[in-house]
Amino acid sequence: MKDDLDLVLRYFESKESAATNPAAGSDRFATLSTDEIQGKLDAAIPPNTRRKELWAVRIFDQWFEQRHNRILHGDTTGLLVLKERHEWNACDWNYLLKMFILEVRKVDGTKYNATTLRDIFSMMQHYLQYTLKKELNLWKDAACRDARMALDAAMKEATREGLVPGTNASSPIPATLEEELWQKGRLATTSPKLLLFTLVFYLGKQFALRGGTELHGLRYSCEIQLQHEDGQELLVYCENRATKTNNAGIKRRFVPLKTVKASHTADHDRCLPCIYKLYVDKRPENCTVQNLFLAWMRSDASIQQGRWYQNAPVGRHSLDGIVRELTAPLTGVTQRYTNQSLRKTCASTLHRAGFAREDIARVTGHSSTAIERYIQFDVQDHVKVSHALQSGGQSSSLSIDTEPERSVEAMEQSNVVTANPAKKMRLNINGNTNTVEIVFE
Ligand SMILES: [Zn+2]
Repeated sequence: MKDDLDLVLRYFESKESAATNPAAGSDRFATLSTDEIQGKLDAAIPPNTRRKELWAVRIFDQWFEQRHNRILHGDTTGLLVLKERHEWNACDWNYLLKMFILEVRKVDGTKYNATTLRDIFSMMQHYLQYTLKKELNLWKDAACRDARMALDAAMKEATREGLVPGTNASSPIPATLEEELWQKGRLATTSPKLLLFTLVFYLGKQFALRGGTELHGLRYSCEIQLQHEDGQELLVYCENRATKTNNAGIKRRFVPLKTVKASHTADHDRCLPCIYKLYVDKRPENCTVQNLFLAWMRSDASIQQGRWYQNAPVGRHSLDGIVRELTAPLTGVTQRYTNQSLRKTCASTLHRAGFAREDIARVTGHSSTAIERYIQFDVQDHVKVSHALQSGGQSSSLSIDTEPERSVEAMEQSNVVTANPAKKMRLNINGNTNTVEIVFE
């Protein structure tokens, strides 16, 4: 009994000493205020999603106010919702969103296209789920069927009326345009600016890099390094979680970081390791900036003295605009080329060369399902399809002639697959009902 009492007393004593002496054991855990915790939760939502949600909710608010006023002024075509918004239940939301999605218009009074309507709807779902914290799924709940059907109807109507989404998607860069860029001196290694632009072009194409954030985050001799393997000099890119645009979270947790290796190719003027070496040779000594891409010198005097780059990084926006600036004078009206084009060029070229989706995904860092929209047919692909269909499903002689030659070229460009010396040749045979892929090793 006394022992028990001692134990209890000792317990309270120890508790007290911990309370009066905050240093004891208080280093281990963080202490966050409610605001700080909310701030962290908010930061988990990508800024673009947040902006889109605000945009959609603002449209909804404007519509609701107009609707509400009309009803107050004697319009009987709608019901009045008198409750506060946080009290609205599934039926209220179903009822309101059904009307909203059918009545929503742009500022100029015209209709939205199907894609935008769907965006507005899914941002309202985001708002319900994350801002209002409602247990409501507009896409699945039976109570929201009317709202879903209204969206379906509005999307079909918009498409029938010829409202197509704006094509602001960037196109892959055809090999002919790349050639033209060299011929016209827009890709070159002869000046600080051109050398940097050319390096960005080939880094983007070879390593399938994303936009400015990823480029801006590249540090000298960190993510990108020259290495020697099996007597070959390789430029190796190791993806870094911190600079990846789509940062790790629950959804991205298990997507492995990619490592891509670029070997020398037959044409050393245009080969990435050579361009990279030219560039880093020009890096100023005692450079204190970590960034790989440095602001270029503009004055002829400094260039003649061999000083090509400054001790300062290139801005994110300048990096973002490089492909647009390179291609602008040569671009027709239908294509739009941006840094994103390089990523698509990489995926489409490897696909054309016959690489499997999984292999392409290792270079681009996509999951193999997300890669589909990056792979785009070019004229030759369409020609092959037409030949295959005309010959009743026989693979045309054309594809047999061109396929091996292209695979070798692409294998030289992408080392991930050259690491495996067995050269593969794939033939797609399109029959009437299905497609057969044959792999020759
Ligand atoms: Zn080379």
